[in-house]
Amino acid sequence: MSAAPATPVGYRHLYLHVPFCARRCNYCDFAIAVRKLVPWRAFADSVDAELRLRGAAESCDVLNTLYLGGGTPSRLGGEGIERLFETLRQHVRWDANAEVTLEANPEDVSPDAVAAWRRAGVNRVSLGVQSFDDRVLSWMHRVHDADAAVRAVDTLRDGGIDAMSLDLIFATPATLERDWSGDITRLLALAPDHISLYGLTIEPHTPLGRWQARGELEEAPEDLYERQFLESHERLRGAGFEHYEVSNFARPGRRARHNSAYWQNVPYLGIGPSAHGFDGSERRWNRAALVAWEAALSDGLDPMEGAETLTRPNREAEMVYLGLRTIDGLELRDGEEARVATWRRQGWIESVPGTAGSHIRCTASGWLRLDALAVDLTALRSRS
Ligand code: SF4
Repeated sequence: MSAAPATPVGYRHLYLHVPFCARRCNYCDFAIAVRKLVPWRAFADSVDAELRLRGAAESCDVLNTLYLGGGTPSRLGGEGIERLFETLRQHVRWDANAEVTLEANPEDVSPDAVAAWRRAGVNRVSLGVQSFDDRVLSWMHRVHDADAAVRAVDTLRDGGIDAMSLDLIFATPATLERDWSGDITRLLALAPDHISLYGLTIEPHTPLGRWQARGELEEAPEDLYERQFLESHERLRGAGFEHYEVSNFARPGRRARHNSAYWQNVPYLGIGPSAHGFDGSERRWNRAALVAWEAALSDGLDPMEGAETLTRPNREAEMVYLGLRTIDGLELRDGEEARVATWRRQGWIESVPGTAGSHIRCTASGWLRLDALAVDLTALRSRS
C-alpha cells in the first residue's frame, strides 16, 4: 500500500462517498451502485482500509464537518450507518459542534433508522425531495412520492433531527407542465432551514440523454429556467432565506458548513469510490466504480485514479469561479472595474454591502450567467 501523506495537512473536513442506490433516477450520472441488498459490512471494511491507507488518523485534525454523500447513504439503514461510524471513529475525531450530514432519500427515513443515525452522531440530513408532484417524481424514476417526503421531514423532526436541507430540481422539460410555484409553496410549508435547488441538466450517458438523442425529449427552454430560478430567489428570500450560493439558500446562521468549505477552497479528505479530495495544492480522485475501488483496497493498492497539482492559472480560475458563485464575492484588482462596468449596468453584479466598492458579487441575474462571467474575468486576469 502507498504510505500516508508525508506532511499531515490537518484536514478539518471529511467527505465519504456511499454509492448505493435502490435504482437509477433517469437524470443521474453519479457514480452509484444499484443494490437490492446493501453490503454494508463489506463497505465499512473497505472504508476502514482506505482511511488507514490515507493515514487519516495523522492527517486529520479534529473534524469540523463530516459529510456522507452519494449515491444514497441512507440506504445503509440504521445498522449500516452505526457500523460505518464505528469505523470512522477508529480513525478520526470530531466534537459535538461538528456538522455531521447524511444524505437521505425519503423512502429510507423511518423512526428506527433516525434513532440509529442520531446514536451514530448524525445531526443534519440532506433530503432528496426533487418535486412535490407525483407525476414529475415518477417521470424522474424516483422511488418515493411527495407524501413520503413530507412524512420523512416529520419523522426526522420527531426523531430529533431538526437541521435539514431539502433538495429540489427545477427546469424540468416544459412538456411536463410542472407547477413550479406550487412546488415552492409546498417546500416553504415544510419550513426547512436549508434548501438546495438544482436546474436539471441532461447528461449524455443517462436515460434522459438517450431520449434526447433520439429526439424524444427537449430540455427546458432558457426562459423557463430563468423564470423558475428568479422566482425561487424572490420567494425564498421573501420567506427569510439568504440566497448565499448559486444553488443554495439558508436561514440566517444555517449555511451548510461542509459545502462552504469547498467554496472557500479549504482542504478536505475524500474517501470512497469516486470521492475527490484536496490537500491545499493537489486534487485527487478515486476510481469511480465500487468494485474497482474495493478490489484495489483488498489487493493492498491505492484506489486513487488520478491527481493534479493546481497550477497558478488553475488557482486563479478557481478563485474567480468560487468567488462569483457565493454572496461573499471577490475583490476586483486594479484596472478590472472598467471591464465589469457593463456587468454592473446590466445588473449582473453589485458591490458587497459594507465593503469597498471593488468587492463585488453576482446578483441573481448574474448567477444565470455565472460560467460566462467567470470565464471572462479569468481571461482578463490571465492577460494581466
Ligand atoms: S438517488 Fe441520487 S444518486 Fe441515486 S440514482 Fe437517484 S439521483 Fe442518482
